[in-house]
Amino acid sequence: MEIFDISLPLNNKTVVYPGNVPLSIEVHHEMPEHATHLSKIVMGSHTGTHVDAPSHAVQGASSLDSIPIETFVGPCRVLDCTGSVSSIKISDLKKFDVKRGERILVKTQNSLSGFDKFRDDYVYLDGDAADYLAELGIMIFGIDYFSVKQRGSKDQRPHTSLLSKNIPIIEGLDLSKVSAGDYMLICLPLKFVGIEGGPARVILTYKK
Ligand SMILES: [Zn+2]
Repeated sequence: MEIFDISLPLNNKTVVYPGNVPLSIEVHHEMPEHATHLSKIVMGSHTGTHVDAPSHAVQGASSLDSIPIETFVGPCRVLDCTGSVSSIKISDLKKFDVKRGERILVKTQNSLSGFDKFRDDYVYLDGDAADYLAELGIMIFGIDYFSVKQRGSKDQRPHTSLLSKNIPIIEGLDLSKVSAGDYMLICLPLKFVGIEGGPARVILTYKK
């Protein structure tokens, strides 16, 4: 079985979406005589590879811990959208014949550009395309940048259309080493209770 870790590394250099809490990891205390080292971690809930729960964009909707774990584990398809220039549109998705209930991850130019600095011109999901996926009723949607939505855009549908249909969004995936195709997704957000999102370790596997 081959395993692809598609999570971003977390350290003091991890890029965060502008305005979000910077990630900081420092020594909390160091007591070598007790063989004890502890770190203090300060981070926003949407740091690195993370899940947006419905309550991120929809008032009163489900929090992270109330999404069924089955949503996060199961067959999944990575779509090659590296040809999409600025955004992923309905026409880009239609050719993949996406079906109800699918777990869909999109690989874009973002993965090829890397995650070492924040890029304003990242490839995002277009509002109409978000409506399209929400109407289809996919199970989960993942994208390889820190937000699914265009920076500064007033069109909130990339979040609201999916999340209002209880379709969680995984953001901050690194798909640079993954080819398009069918995999098994294992996405495990930390079990924070009652909040709108949280960091996750995400891997893809397939049988060789
Ligand atoms: Zn987010």
